Amino acid sequence: MSNHARPEQNTNASAREADRAGQVSDQVCGQSYGQVWEHSLGPQDFLLSSEARESVRDLHDPLFARAWEEQGFAEAQGLPGRAVAALQARLLVRLFERLGCLGTEKRQGFGSLFYRTLLAPYQSSLMQLQQSCRQIWETMLEAPGTVALDESEFVLLAPVRKILATLPLTSGRDIAGDYRRFLCTSQDEVARIVTLTTSGSTGAAKRLAFSVRDLERTRKFFAAGMAQIVGNGDVLLVCLPGAERPDGVADLLNRGLSPLGVTVHALPSAASDQVVQETIAKLSPTSLVLAPRQLQTLLHIFPDKAPGRLRSFLVSADWCDHSLLQQAQKNWQVATLDHYGITETCFGCALECRGKTGYHIRHADVLCEIIDPLTGEILPPGEVGELVLTTLRQEVMPLVRYRTGDAASLRIDRCNCTSPLSRIDRLLGRFAPGTRDIIHPKKGERCHVPL
Ligand SMILES: [Zn+2]
Repeated sequence: MSNHARPEQNTNASAREADRAGQVSDQVCGQSYGQVWEHSLGPQDFLLSSEARESVRDLHDPLFARAWEEQGFAEAQGLPGRAVAALQARLLVRLFERLGCLGTEKRQGFGSLFYRTLLAPYQSSLMQLQQSCRQIWETMLEAPGTVALDESEFVLLAPVRKILATLPLTSGRDIAGDYRRFLCTSQDEVARIVTLTTSGSTGAAKRLAFSVRDLERTRKFFAAGMAQIVGNGDVLLVCLPGAERPDGVADLLNRGLSPLGVTVHALPSAASDQVVQETIAKLSPTSLVLAPRQLQTLLHIFPDKAPGRLRSFLVSADWCDHSLLQQAQKNWQVATLDHYGITETCFGCALECRGKTGYHIRHADVLCEIIDPLTGEILPPGEVGELVLTTLRQEVMPLVRYRTGDAASLRIDRCNCTSPLSRIDRLLGRFAPGTRDIIHPKKGERCHVPL
């Protein structure tokens, strides 16, 4: 089956046209969430397809871009595993070039001072990784028929993952202090710096820096993801603390969703539960973006019926007990989405689809690994370990093999929405430092994970 002949049941002609025109989000513009929910959007790779096109352009690699076009990937409604594997392999090598660890930028001394120093002893691993990545994209360029179209990107990237596993891990401790050691661009390119307060009183705060283009990519991801539950005429209230700041989550949602006809409001950071309640009564939003704690409060205030016109919400910013989501779906009769993102990934990372079989990853921006939190050994899909992220396209402050502390596993079975791409399974909590114990945020309990 050629990529052009993907199953028709999930799409329609106008959606395909919109996708070809690069207006992926527009296909749901004007539909209520109910219609969107009813008419499947097709593989959730739509979250990826516009980003993937953009990332190919970002590579400034005419040969790769032409091969991509010739393979029909540029027009693909959803992207087969082979396309994603080739793209991630290309982006990974480009990342190490940008960091100053490979290629011409290494010779010229550009890149991140931190990673150039950290990875200096790993030159042979990096060369192997470059070679392995080249093999993947040469397969795409020269022998397109040799790999099954829908083969999981996880399978195809396995050799690359193996080499990646020989490189050192990084953590929040590394990005505490002077963030300039991490910069791959001049400071003029920095559009926003986010300082993360730490729970301990000792130690420097973590700082993350983003460019206009880093923020723009997140804006597009938010718009495509939220278009699953909002459309023209909807009123969205963003309740997340801190989201109202310039270039914050509410700002990015506003810029992403206004063109779709969604009105976006943000609550001030220190809003009390009463203010949240009053604002909901005043604005009567049809959708919310909120933290799990805020959802819990609202479910307490409105136990049986959704407040006002509420038809959907997205929960983010913290681990969410899924019984809360189920309670809201049942009692409020609303559509729900759970999002996983951390500031280090420029807020957005992975999002549920209506299939509810895990979080679809921004494959054009993030490479996920699961490791044993004690030994650092890579764990296969399905096994619970610590989620480790590599931000493939961040311009200013990319992170390589960054330990999140979050406990999860990867899924490579096909999603209910038909996507063959790997996903992050439900987040289970956080690993207690230096242990394999997962702290369950709700009960504060630890549960030992047999690894
Ligand atoms: Zn899905």
